[in-house]
Amino acid sequence: MIPGTFDYHRPTTVESAVALLLQLGEDARPLAGGHSLIPLMKTRLAAPEHLVDLGAIEGLHRVERIGDDVVIGAMTTQHSVINSSLLADLVPILRETALVIADPQIRYKGTIGGNCANGDPGNDMPALMQCLGASYTLTGTGGNRQVSARDFYLGAYETALAPGEILTEIRIPIPPTGHGYGYEKLKRKVGDYATAAAAVVITMAAGTCTSASIGLTNVSETPLWAAEAARILVGSTLDVATVDAAVAAAEAITTPASDMRGPAEYRTKMAGVMLRRALGRARVRATV
Ligand SMILES: Cc1cc2nc3c(=O)[nH]c(=O)nc-3n(C[C@H](O)[C@H](O)[C@H](O)COP(=O)(O)OP(=O)(O)OC[C@H]3O[C@@H](n4cnc5c(N)ncnc54)[C@H](O)[C@@H]3O)c2cc1C
Repeated sequence: MIPGTFDYHRPTTVESAVALLLQLGEDARPLAGGHSLIPLMKTRLAAPEHLVDLGAIEGLHRVERIGDDVVIGAMTTQHSVINSSLLADLVPILRETALVIADPQIRYKGTIGGNCANGDPGNDMPALMQCLGASYTLTGTGGNRQVSARDFYLGAYETALAPGEILTEIRIPIPPTGHGYGYEKLKRKVGDYATAAAAVVITMAAGTCTSASIGLTNVSETPLWAAEAARILVGSTLDVATVDAAVAAAEAITTPASDMRGPAEYRTKMAGVMLRRALGRARVRATV
């Protein structure tokens, strides 16, 4: 399939990209790695008249530690996330998640910013960002504003991005040393989106869970932060009854579609299974 015609723009600063997007209006779309946008254009589900390529803007491809946060530039590729020793040391669940996204070729071009800004409930990074308590820096003509990943997703392909704004960086509070983590994803084959997936980050002290956070992928129109399920875990030894109750609470907030990945009831149950597995792995990994 061949996309419709479009004009291609390649600004070199965030300011000029934002100005262009605002000037061109809703006929324009930012282009990052292109691995969600271009397939949509090829099937004519999207037909932007202007593509504003963010690839020549300096400073958007970076990973750094700033105080108690790691900051990842929006144009950082999944490949770079996987190969960052800083992220492997400080927030290893990012690598674990990036490794189950699509395939190596797509990860080589696909960006973390595109994955988070896209608004597709099938994307894996958004639920992880909710689990980690990340915030997004959105840049418009008026400057920067911070929006929590937990507030960013409004519906399928509907986000808090205002016209002309771009996501420029992702700030992630560094989880405590010794935290446990797990990202578990059920997919039909390599390169598939999730039937259901769960991200878990916990801390333990003397056998008791002292903090927990859970995100769920592709079981609703938006990624889900399972706050009640996490609350149930805190203060417990992660005994069977408590884990059962947390899994039930997580399943209760899912509203998946019945589609080629299975009926809604099955996908809800698989979200529970993924949560159980991710939690089991997080518990083994928690070292305090
Ligand atoms: C075969 C296949 C399998 C895949 N499997 C998975 C999977 O299992 N899990 C998964 O998570 N993803 C999967 N993907 C999607 C892939 O990860 C994409 O790379 C990702 O969703 C979008 O990132 P991108 O950089 O390619 O963005 P693009 O495709 O360039 O952009 C996506 C959307 O976000 C907007 N956008 C991009 N960057 C910004 C920004 N900085 N600010 C504001 N708006 C922006 C664009 O305008 C567009 O609307 C798959 C893709 C393919 C083709």
